[in-house]
Amino acid sequence: MRTRIQNIIMTPGVREEKHISFVNDAEIHIHGNRIVYAGKKECAPAFEADQVINGGGALAMPGLCNMHTHTPMTLLRNVGSDLDLNNWLHQAIFPLEACLTDEAVRAGTDLGIMEMLSFGTTSFCDMYMHMDAVAEGVLHSGMRALLGHGIVDFDGSCADLEPGIAFAKKWHKAANDRIRVSLAPHSEGATTPEVLQKVEQWAGKLKIAIHTHVSETQFDVNGCIKRHGMTPPQYLDSLGLLSHPIVAAHCVWFTDKDIALFAKRGCTIVHNPISNLKLASGIAPVHKMLQAGCKVAIGTDGVASNNNLNLWEEMKLMPLLQKGTMLDPKVVSPAQCLAAATTVGAEAMGYVDLGLLKEGYLADLILLDLNQPSVVPVNDMENNLIYATLGSHVKLTMVDGKVLYQNGQFTTLDGKAVLARGARAAQELAEKAIAKAAENV
Ligand SMILES: [Zn+2]
Repeated sequence: MRTRIQNIIMTPGVREEKHISFVNDAEIHIHGNRIVYAGKKECAPAFEADQVINGGGALAMPGLCNMHTHTPMTLLRNVGSDLDLNNWLHQAIFPLEACLTDEAVRAGTDLGIMEMLSFGTTSFCDMYMHMDAVAEGVLHSGMRALLGHGIVDFDGSCADLEPGIAFAKKWHKAANDRIRVSLAPHSEGATTPEVLQKVEQWAGKLKIAIHTHVSETQFDVNGCIKRHGMTPPQYLDSLGLLSHPIVAAHCVWFTDKDIALFAKRGCTIVHNPISNLKLASGIAPVHKMLQAGCKVAIGTDGVASNNNLNLWEEMKLMPLLQKGTMLDPKVVSPAQCLAAATTVGAEAMGYVDLGLLKEGYLADLILLDLNQPSVVPVNDMENNLIYATLGSHVKLTMVDGKVLYQNGQFTTLDGKAVLARGARAAQELAEKAIAKAAENV
């Protein structure tokens, strides 16, 4: 398939540039799953297209990467409000998760993918259980994802490791390389040194990334210091984990030494501002992290602590929280924010050709409607993009060269059926959990 997108304004995206650039009267040519031209219409080479998309003056930009989530948790939306992380997990979340089945996880995954596509997310990084069902959802929807089977180990038996390795062997680089796999030990507090050492060895053998939660709460950090005499980053480094590509979610309670260590090792931090605020976990020192040269991506975390998958809210909150806490309006630029939502995540997923609208790059992109009241008049294009754009302005989402969402319609998902299945699966889950609790009384 050869696609031309015309009648658009375009930003190629950013890696380390100080400002986001925009190209008026632009055109994008896509051949198969790759961009073959992105730039000024007047400079475009001749291109015979099978499909022409008229952007109608929309802004084309790279698709968003939601770098930390638990997609099937869409089924637990709005469950366990007003609890801190520890109580939220044990009182509200774990009893429901214990009743999950492959079918329920698939229903939650499809619902989550549908929500993400409608908000312009083209890749996500996930850690959960029943991961074959999540991978099937990614395969059939056309989405891109870095997936990991969540490894928990409280007794040193390392029983969760084998399914994690089997999942990686089965799915890594599947679906035309849209699916990549990580090893995903849940966190220091939910694992043992034995299993983390094995994860370290297997990440090297399989040449895949590690995805884990790090220093999410003060409780996590204090527990780690008590158990190992070190903060979680220092402990993970002592076991060699930070020498592998690592996606570290949260990183709220980082010391200056932790930040310097992460910068030195090139680890990717995933900032989840809404989840951290909602569970009263705290505010990550993102400004300090960026200043130290850390890679910072963003994520929503699971829906149950957000309570949606609209990454535009994280993009707006990331700079606002730093400005407000540092009392400095200059900290965190729109360009840093866009990089966090695109290129930093794409690189952490292991792609060197994703996250920019550039010749040779994978065709993951979105179109934003600029004829919406909250983005008129523009005055300042960078500020308009980060602070005034809403997720609902996304009018087209393309992954790997295929349009998956356009003007409220999904091309690979039956929207009505996915909503109905999601609602039904959530209700069945709640009923099962109540029945199980009654049995145990
Ligand atoms: Zn999480």
